[in-house]
Formats: sequence, C-alpha cells, structure tokens
Amino acid sequence: MSKQKPSYDAERIEAARQAVWEQRGDFEAPRPAAGQARAYVKPSSPFTSGNLHMGHVRDYSIGDAYARFRRARGDAVLLGFGFDAFGLPAELAAIERQEPPADWVAQCGERMLGQMKRLGFSFDYDRVFYSSDESQYRWSQWLFLTLLEAGLIYREDATVDWCDTCQTTLASIQVEDGRCWRCHNEVRLIRRPTWFLRITPYLEENDSSTEKLENWDDLALSTQRYILGRSDGVELDLEGDGGPLTVFSPHRGAIGLASFVLLSPRHPEVDAWVTDPGVRDELDQMRSGGWDRSARDARSVPVFDTGTAVVGPGGDELPVLVSPLVDARFGPTAALGIPAIDDADRDIAARIGRIPAPVESDEDGGGAGDGAAGPAMAAPVAGAREAKRYRANDFSISRQRSWGTPIPVVHCEQCGPVPVPKAELPVVLPRDIKPTGEGNPLAERPDFVDVACPGCGAPAKRETDTLDCHFDALWLWVPAAVPPEDRGELMFEHPDLKEWLPAERLVAGGDSGGFVFDQRIVTKALRDIGPFSFLADGEPFAGCLFHEMVIADGRKMSKHLGNVVNPDELVERYGADTVRLAVLYAAGPAKTLNWSDGALRFANRFLRNLWTYSQDRFAAVENAPHDEAAAADTEFMRDRLRKWCDNGLARITDDVEQLQMHKAVRNITRLFERIQDFEKRVVKRRGQLDRADAEAQIAALVLLAQALAPFAPHAAEELLLASGADEAAVLPVSWPDSAAIPVAAEAPTATG
Ligand SMILES: [Zn+2]
Ligand SMILES: [Zn+2]
Repeated sequence: MSKQKPSYDAERIEAARQAVWEQRGDFEAPRPAAGQARAYVKPSSPFTSGNLHMGHVRDYSIGDAYARFRRARGDAVLLGFGFDAFGLPAELAAIERQEPPADWVAQCGERMLGQMKRLGFSFDYDRVFYSSDESQYRWSQWLFLTLLEAGLIYREDATVDWCDTCQTTLASIQVEDGRCWRCHNEVRLIRRPTWFLRITPYLEENDSSTEKLENWDDLALSTQRYILGRSDGVELDLEGDGGPLTVFSPHRGAIGLASFVLLSPRHPEVDAWVTDPGVRDELDQMRSGGWDRSARDARSVPVFDTGTAVVGPGGDELPVLVSPLVDARFGPTAALGIPAIDDADRDIAARIGRIPAPVESDEDGGGAGDGAAGPAMAAPVAGAREAKRYRANDFSISRQRSWGTPIPVVHCEQCGPVPVPKAELPVVLPRDIKPTGEGNPLAERPDFVDVACPGCGAPAKRETDTLDCHFDALWLWVPAAVPPEDRGELMFEHPDLKEWLPAERLVAGGDSGGFVFDQRIVTKALRDIGPFSFLADGEPFAGCLFHEMVIADGRKMSKHLGNVVNPDELVERYGADTVRLAVLYAAGPAKTLNWSDGALRFANRFLRNLWTYSQDRFAAVENAPHDEAAAADTEFMRDRLRKWCDNGLARITDDVEQLQMHKAVRNITRLFERIQDFEKRVVKRRGQLDRADAEAQIAALVLLAQALAPFAPHAAEELLLASGADEAAVLPVSWPDSAAIPVAAEAPTATG
C-alpha cells in the first residue's frame, strides 16, 4: 500500500521550485489586462551593506506574502525592488577597503540579491535598480532641476562640521565627542552654502491628507503625525521695537499671562529684532554655533535676550528672546513664553534676568497642557485667532561627499549658480574615484570640475557637493514601475506609471517615517508641476504597513554584542520556508520581534508534520474502501469539515488583506489541527475513513496548501503537485475556494 514517500527535504524542494520560477519567469510584472485589478507592492529599499539582516527578512517576507496572495487571486502584481546605493555607508566601506565605492556597491548588491532569491522572494528581478546607476541618478538630477525651477529648492548658508586636518566636512556620525573619526583632531563648525528642499508649502496638505489615508496602519500614521509635529493653538499680532510680529501659543486660554516672546533664529524677520551689534554676535554664534549638537532641554538650550520688546496682549512689555527651542517645539516661528503654566517657558525665564518670576507660584497648574490650568486661567484676549504650527521644516539635501548624485549646477563668476540644461543630463559621476576620507575627491578632479558655463560659455566650475541619499530616496518608489529598457529615456512621464501608481502597499521599517513623509511631499509637488497630475491626492502609497525591528536577547542586534542572527545560517539549517514562516509567526508587525529559536522550531515542526501527514493521505486515498452506507453515516462530519475550512479560509483571507501575517499563519496551523481532528473523529466512529471521507480530507489539505503558499511557497507548491492533481490545475497557485470540499455521500470520484 505505501509507496516510498519523500521526507521533508527543504533544500531539495526549494531548489526545485526556485529553478521552475526562474525558468518560467513567474514573477515578471505583467501588463495588466483591461479591468484587471493591479497591485504594486513596494518593500523597503536597503542600503547596499553587503548582507541582508533579519529586519530585511521580516520586511520582504511580509511584502512577498502579500504579493503572492494578490497574484493567487488573479491580480496583476508588481513586486518591485531597488537599492539605495549612494551615500555614506558605501563610501565608508569603500574607504576601509581602499576600492572605488562603485565596485563595493556592485559586489554587495549581487550578494544580497542572491540571498533574496535563496529565500524565495518573488521580486521582479529584471526590474531591480541601483540609485547609483547612471540611468537612475540622471532622474535624481532631473528631479533636482524640476524642483529648483518650481522654487522648491534653494541655497542658503548652513552649519557643518569641518576637520582642518583632513580638509573635509564630516557627517554627524563621523564626529565622536567633538573629534574627527579619522584623525581624532577636534572638529569645528563652519558656515557654507548648502542646498535645501522647501517642504513647508505642502505641510498643511500632508496634514489634512493624513486623515484620509485608508489601509495605513496605526504605526505608519502615527509616524506621519509625529514628523509633522502639529501644534494647535492661537496666534495674535503684536507691535514692538522690530515692527509687527505674529506670535503663536498652544495655550489658548492663558496668553494673557505671557511674560516674554521666544523667536526662532530661523524666523524670517529675526534680523529686525537683533540690531544691537553685541546681540548680533550672539545670533551669528547661535547660527554657526553647535545647537544642533546640544541638548534640546530648556535648561541648557542656547538662548539670548535681544534687548527689544513687544507690547503684550495685556499691555505690558514682553522681552524678545531668541532660541532654537522654538524650532524644536513649533518650527521656525515666534512663540509666547508663559512661565505661569509652561514648564519649558519657566526654565527659559529663569535664565533671563529681565523677566520677573511668575506672579504667583502655581503649585498644581504646572505642565505644558493646553492652557486649561485652573488658577492660571486668564480672560480671553481680543485679536487672538485659531492657528497651528508644524515642527517639520525644510532640510538640507547636499553633502560634501564623492559617492552621491552630482548636483547639476555650474558656478560661473559672471552668472552665479547656473542649472545644467536638462537635455545635457546626466552630469556623470567619475566611477573610478577612490575616496580616502581626506579632502573632497570630486573637487580634485579637473575632468569633473572644469566646464564651460551653460549661460555665457566662460570657464566655470561644477558644483562639487553631491545630493544626500535622502534626496534619491524621495523617488525610490518610482523606478520599479518603469521597464528597465525605457529608464534612460523616460521616467517620470512613463505611461506605465499610470498603471501602477499609487503603490498598493508600502511595507517598511518603523524608522522609515521621515522618508515616507518627504516622498508624500514630493509626490504632491510633482502633481502640481505636472508629471503626477493623475495622482489627484498627491499620495504615493494607497496603503502602508510599518513593522518594528528584529532584536535578539531583548537588545538591538550588533556585532559588538555578538547577538547578530545571520539569515544565511538559518536558511542553510532549516530552509527558507521555515525561516519565512517563523519570522511572520513570531510577532505582529507593530511589535518588536525578539528573535528566539522557539518560533523557528515551531515553524519547522509544522512544515515537517504537514508534509508527512499530507503525503501519507495522498498515497492512501486510492486504496480507501467505499461503502454507500458508511459514506452517508459520516456526511455530517464532512459537512463540518467544509465549514471549518470555510471559516478558517475566511479568517486567513482577512488576515492577509490586513497584512497581519502572524494571525494568518496561526489560523493556518489551526486549520491543520481541524483537518487532523476530522480524521480522528471519523476513525473513532467507524474505524476507518471511507473513500468519500478521504477525498474530502484531501480537498481540505489541498486548500490548506494553497493558503500556505504565500508564506511557505516552496513546500506548498510541492505538496500541491504531490496531491495527485494535474500540474496545470494547481500551479500557478490560485487562492482557494472552500466550496471545493466534497460533502455529499453519493458521488465520490476517482482520483488521478
Ligand atoms: Zn580629520
Ligand atoms: Zn556664465
């Protein structure tokens, strides 16, 4: 009766399935048919670090399961992928290895793609891109020029760390205790011209549209609100030594108690209030000084008194102070200081001699509430109107690094900064640069720097700053939707974008909120400029799932702690399906996943049991006896099995649609228990399964394998093939329909 059944051999199974997928091109994004639902699933874009870590495995296991589920339902799916390949991590690795960053990036990318394929992730690998490819960064340059034309990019002095020994600017992570990472000499802050992205025109829309986002999970939404940093309150217009000044307060009911005004050093009118030469020095120092590196605590944050004043809402003079504390709380604005009810304001007031102590000490009314503090309540102030402020603000996008997108600008003595005409893009980055950490390698390359001015033709110099990789990331969700062969010629206006955008789901780490926020801003800008006019709400992602990180022993994984879990070792030992299932099962996306081998063992045991159990039943069905009366006697049990399958499948479907894969996996394991339970009950009642029972059970096992396919695709597909069904009937996997469980006693059919 029993044939030799293959035991569960993950390595063999996975190699077999992966070879078939590759050969058939199963994951190439199809051209959607008319009326076909389509889904562009966008997982996070990693740095080319050289190794996938468990956080990536978590991210891609979720995105891949969702993509496979949508394909199984008959939808057109694009599971796109690309590397965030420019930037400091690659440059530092290249310095350490003394090789060009381009070479390092190519090696890392190749290795990581190999890991991803071994894990069975169903990306359209033909569409993989690197942000450092010429066909890619030319569009970063195009975006820069387009935003520059629209007034959304500007150039202004900013403070950066500078090492005199190495003759280079330093990123903040290259400064350790005020010293250079490379030569350990003290660094100093210098002012230099820097390019900024203007996001303020879109903050209000990002705010109101956040409320309308469906299919965004709570973690993703809360990061958007946090980054926006909205404060609601009131504003009013005051007059003073520097002219009119609009001031804000979150404390609606208490503005009559204000005793000073705090001005941001970045307030557009700050200069009118800082006229005294001595005070002017203080402002210059604050601007070039290191407040970025100092605490945001009101007791230690830099603050100075301008010596000027405004007439407050109660008619008394309010001293005007300047401090970046305003920026950290409300953005670059002017805020009323109300020490009577606001702790931070009380700390500031205590440091400025000109401000009297609050009138009465208010024992119970402290805290930065909304101004409803009992004894401190003051009468409403005339002229106050509802207002809000956003903490999010414009940010710098240029760096003095050689491994980045060259900024397409030429500096001419006659014309000033001149944009490179779009027709002349790309401005090509020399690929053979070997950064050492010293100087600015791009500035030392005459073949790069010396150029004719696009305006007047006179000898001029190229901009030697490059774009921060955060700028590349503004549109990293776009290129996968454009066929690779078209990317050199057409990107932001490619007709396929209308097919795939907005992306159905972004799946990203919980720390990606800043990237996503800025991607939403740039989408709105490109909508208004033209190319993305088809995205009426200016949103790049219809849905978004953020997941927390993977840790070990309750701590972040790090080489230093020796607790890094290497996905390659797990795959080698247990197989890709086990690793994928374990990572999904171990925790819901909103929870930090504290890695333990328990989940691995659970997932592996489940797969082995399911494998052996199913193979045995598939082999036994042919020999099951059939008897009309016996089949009729257990019909109600088969009916119950069908209901179990119905309910289980409904739950699993719902879980996957919500990307709650941990619940889906749990419901799959429960359904397997039900199927085993069915057999036990039939055997208990009649001693053995009738052929009708065996066929119903096999239909249930097939349904289970179909539902398992998004999570453990290799084992699931091999089981479907082993079920005795025609290959064409079961592959590619379609999402199951529980009505396929045969219940009626009369009509058991021959299999095979
Ligand atoms: Zn140095
Ligand atoms: Zn010129």
